[in-house]
Amino acid sequence: MTVGSDELLTEQEGRLLQPFVTNLERSVFGLRNLPEVVKGALFSRYSRSTKGLRRILLDEFIQAPEADFTRIVGNVAGGNSDQLVAIQQAEAFYDRVLIGYGDDSVAELGGAHIACEGISNIAAKALEDSRLGISPLEKSTRYVPFNQKINGRYRYYREPFIMASSHALRYEATLDHLFDTYTALTAPLLSWVRTCTPRDTDTSERAYNSATRAKTFDLLRGLLPMATLTNVGLFGNGRAFEYMLVKLAASPHEEVRSLGLAMQQELDQLIPSFVKRAKTERGQQYAQYLSANRDRTAQLTHQQLKPIEPTATSFVQLVEYDADAEIKIVASILYPHSDLTLERIKEYVRGLSTSEKAEIINTYVGERSTRFHRPGRAFEETYYTFDVLADLGAYRDLHRHRVLTQERQRYSVRHGYVVPPELEAANLAEPYRKALDDAAETAELIHTDLPDAAQYVVPFAYRVRWRMTLNLREVYHFVELRSSRQGHSTYRAIAQGMYHHIRAVHPTLVANLTFVDLNNYGLERLAAEQRLDTKLKQRRQE
Ligand SMILES: Cc1cc2nc3c(=O)[nH]c(=O)nc-3n(C[C@H](O)[C@H](O)[C@H](O)COP(=O)(O)OP(=O)(O)OC[C@H]3O[C@@H](n4cnc5c(N)ncnc54)[C@H](O)[C@@H]3O)c2cc1C
Repeated sequence: MTVGSDELLTEQEGRLLQPFVTNLERSVFGLRNLPEVVKGALFSRYSRSTKGLRRILLDEFIQAPEADFTRIVGNVAGGNSDQLVAIQQAEAFYDRVLIGYGDDSVAELGGAHIACEGISNIAAKALEDSRLGISPLEKSTRYVPFNQKINGRYRYYREPFIMASSHALRYEATLDHLFDTYTALTAPLLSWVRTCTPRDTDTSERAYNSATRAKTFDLLRGLLPMATLTNVGLFGNGRAFEYMLVKLAASPHEEVRSLGLAMQQELDQLIPSFVKRAKTERGQQYAQYLSANRDRTAQLTHQQLKPIEPTATSFVQLVEYDADAEIKIVASILYPHSDLTLERIKEYVRGLSTSEKAEIINTYVGERSTRFHRPGRAFEETYYTFDVLADLGAYRDLHRHRVLTQERQRYSVRHGYVVPPELEAANLAEPYRKALDDAAETAELIHTDLPDAAQYVVPFAYRVRWRMTLNLREVYHFVELRSSRQGHSTYRAIAQGMYHHIRAVHPTLVANLTFVDLNNYGLERLAAEQRLDTKLKQRRQE
C-alpha cells in the first residue's frame, strides 16, 4: 500500500492508522478521532522530520510504547470525564514530544470552540478585537429582540463598581428606561414600517415579516446600552487564545478580566498546553506591561492634547493615501511574471501613461462576475487611512473585519447621537431622544467617579470615533460587502463614503470595484429574504 509520496504501509499498519486519517492512499487527508493536542504535536513534527505525517503518527505515536497511545485515544471515545483524562494524558505526552522545540507556532496547530454567554457588549468587543486566528460569531441585534426579562429584570450587566457606588439606583433606572423605550417603540415602529412598505404579491408573508422585523430592530438598536448582555461563540487556535487571555487580563474592566479567567479555566480542559503561559508569571508580566503602557500613554495624551479645541469633522474622512499607489500596484502586478528587480520594474512603470497603467490593472483584475472574484496581492501594495465618526451600532458591525488596522476612542456620549430619519417620520423620535438624553446625563455623572465603568451606560446611538487603515485589496472586500443591499444603512453609508473618497484620488484603482452598491433601500433585508424563499421552495421540490 502506498502512502502519500513514496512511503509504504503494511496491511497491519493500515488497519492501525485507518481510524485516525480520512484516507490511507492520497497525499491530501484529514486527521480524525484525535485529541487537539495530539494533532498539534503531530503537525509540529513536520518541521523536523523527513517522514510523512501518517508515518510519524505510526512510528512516533501509535507504535511508540512510551506514547501510551491506546490509552490517550481509546479514552476519547468514552464519556466526558474519560475525555478529560485523555486530554491530560495527551498533554503529558505532548510536553515530552515538544521538549526543546519551544516554537510558538506549534500552538496554532490545535484549536478550541468556546462559548461566552451573558456577557456585556464591552466584553464582546474586547473578545472580537482579536484578529488573527480567531473566528467569532455574535448574537445579532437585527434578528433577535433585546427586550426579554429574566426574573423581572432586563438583560444588562450590573457593573459591580457602579452597583457598589451611590450611582447604582440611577444606573438601573437609566438602563431600564432605555430598555422600556425599546420595548414600547417596537410595535408602533413595526406597524409604521409595514404601512410604509406594504407587501407586494411577489413577496411571501414569511419574507415580508422577517424583513420588516429586521428593519424595526435595526432602527431601535440605538437604544441598547453597551451593558446589554449578548452571546459570543469563538473558534480559535491555541496561540490566538493565549494572546487573547493576556489582553483580557490587561483590560481596565473587571468584567473582561473575570471573563479571561473563566475562559482560561475552560481552555485548560481542551488545549491546556497551548494556553498555559497566559497564567504563568510571564503571562502576568505581559498583561501588566500592556496595561501600564496603556495607562501611561493615556495620561501623556491627556497632558499634551487637552488644550486643543475639537473641530467639527466629517462622517468619513480620508486622512492618508499613497501618491505612488498606481506605480506600486502596477509594478507588483508585473513582478511575479518577470525576473527583473522590483526597483527596475518600478522605473519602467514610471514611464507609462495613465491608460497604459490602466490596461495592466484591468488585465490583472479581469472579468469579475461576482464580488467574490477579488484582485490579488498586488492590491495590498497601497493603504488608505480613514477617520470615521459614526454611531456605535455601525462601529460594532465594522469592528468585526480583521484584515485591517482599526482603533477606536473611548465609548462616550460626547459626540452626540444619531436619530434614524425613519423614527422622525414615524413620529416616534421624542421618546427615543428622551431615553438617550437621560443616558447621557447618567454617563457623565458616573464618569466623574468611575470613568471606565461609565462606558457601560453609552447607548449604540451615540457616536464613536475610530480609525481604519486598510489596503486596497481589503477595500474591495469591505466596500462591496458593507455597501451591499442587506447591510445596515449607517455602515452602508460609511462604505459608500470610503468608495467616493478613494475614487476622487485614485479613479483607476477603483474602476473595477464594480459591486459597490450606491443605492438606498427601504427594506434592506427584503431581497435576501426573497432569495431565501426561492431556496426554501427549491428544497421542498427536491
Ligand atoms: C449583512 C451582514 C450580517 C451579519 N450578521 C452577523 C451576525 O448576525 N452575527 C455575527 O456574528 N456576525 C455577523 N456579520 C459579520 C460577519 O460574520 C463577519 O464577521 C464580518 O463580515 C467580517 O468578516 P469577513 O470575514 O467578512 O472580513 P475580514 O475579517 O475583513 O476578512 C477579509 C477576508 O479575509 C479572509 N479571512 C479573514 N479572516 C479569516 C479567517 N480567520 N479564516 C479564513 N479566512 C479569513 C476571508 O476571505 C474574509 O472574507 C454580518 C455581516 C454582514 C455583512
